[in-house]
Amino acid sequence: MRSHSLLRLALLLVLVALIAPTLKVASDAKVQEWAQWLLRGAGAVAALAVVAWLLEKIGVRVAGARCADCRRRVPYGHAYCYDHLRDRTHAAREKLHGERGSGI
Ligand SMILES: [Zn+2]
Repeated sequence: MRSHSLLRLALLLVLVALIAPTLKVASDAKVQEWAQWLLRGAGAVAALAVVAWLLEKIGVRVAGARCADCRRRVPYGHAYCYDHLRDRTHAAREKLHGERGSGI
């Protein structure tokens, strides 16, 4: 499961746990207890989501940088291979030049 869906599930559980005791039906102690457990579950899921999110972050780093255009391996910290980096730089420079109309 992706970290985002886990986080959404945690938020949903918190929401239910917060709303349930305020409902008229949920006035007895049993439901209050149930809401407590739900909150605890939500906390656990939220913690899981954070861990999953961290793993995803690290996973992206560990998997090694790859060019966003051609998926070729690139040096650590680079977004594009040298060819595509040059292409992007040229394109950006031309765009800037066209917009400004200056010599830059
Ligand atoms: Zn490339």
